[in-house]
Amino acid sequence: MIIDGKKTAAELREKIKKEISKLKSTYNAVPGLTVILVGEDPASKIYVKNKEKFAKEVGMNSEVIRYPADLEEKVLLDKIQELNKNKRVSGILVQLPLPKHIDKRKVIETIDPRKDVDGFHPMNVGNLSSGYDSSIPCTPLGCSLLLKKVEKNLSGKSAVVIGRSNLNGKPMTQLLLKENCTVTVTHSKTKDLKAECQRADIIIAAVGIPKLVKGDWVKKGTIVIDVGINKTDSGIVGDVDFDQVSKVAKAITPVPGGVGPMTIACLLKNTVECFKKSNI
Ligand code: NAD
Repeated sequence: MIIDGKKTAAELREKIKKEISKLKSTYNAVPGLTVILVGEDPASKIYVKNKEKFAKEVGMNSEVIRYPADLEEKVLLDKIQELNKNKRVSGILVQLPLPKHIDKRKVIETIDPRKDVDGFHPMNVGNLSSGYDSSIPCTPLGCSLLLKKVEKNLSGKSAVVIGRSNLNGKPMTQLLLKENCTVTVTHSKTKDLKAECQRADIIIAAVGIPKLVKGDWVKKGTIVIDVGINKTDSGIVGDVDFDQVSKVAKAITPVPGGVGPMTIACLLKNTVECFKKSNI
């Protein structure tokens, strides 16, 4: 089974669109997403453009604030404070990576955790790992929804997460634990990644190495979620060797068209959740 992330994301956006229309009639207001982009990173510019496009498409207020790469850190922090107080703004996202002279940690910690649609604020990270209600980072949330498409009950499954980044690997681990999986977190210092993968019922690859996971790393019946987006001479490929692994896996996400589209749909979902909580 090839897990169609594009279709699942489109369905989720449709659901969100309907929900926003209902919220509009209840509150006479719609969720608002503000994205801040600092600098000219080409990939970030594309991501931000897509975020703006889909936010508008589902009926949100969408605003992008663009700053030059030499922006003073204080200007950014002041802007975030201002957005924290703005009732029309339900969610704030500062596109990463930031230029080196800006302290990423300070920026993340300045965002009001109730408007932190990326789920990167330490309060949300802590809540997630304590099993409490929190904003969940968009990409792992998208992976979870795709996993659930294949199998509703993941309890007792053996899951291997490749990569331990704050963005992907760590929150993914928490989500799998919440589903009662037995989780192994692997990383660049893991001794025998192949052997770890061979034991897994679920593999989440979030590494950034093209086609790292090979066909003989995966047992029959495993569900494989490929987070990787790697530019190569032959185009964009994932962290999983799709041609090999799709022959043995029970289900697998393609790249592109798998996890990628879910990330933005989950950002919209998080923005709606923040709006609803602010109106309770
Ligand atoms: P990162 O560089 O922050 O982290 C990579 C992780 O991989 C690290 O924890 C490192 O220890 C581990 N690693 C490195 N080499 C390894 C090896 N040989 N064996 C096992 N582990 C190893 O990366 P990230 O931000 O988590 O992104 C990972 C990938 O996901 C990238 O390709 C990125 O472009 C992609 N990504 C996709 C989306 C999406 O929407 N689909 C979103 C974010 C990132």
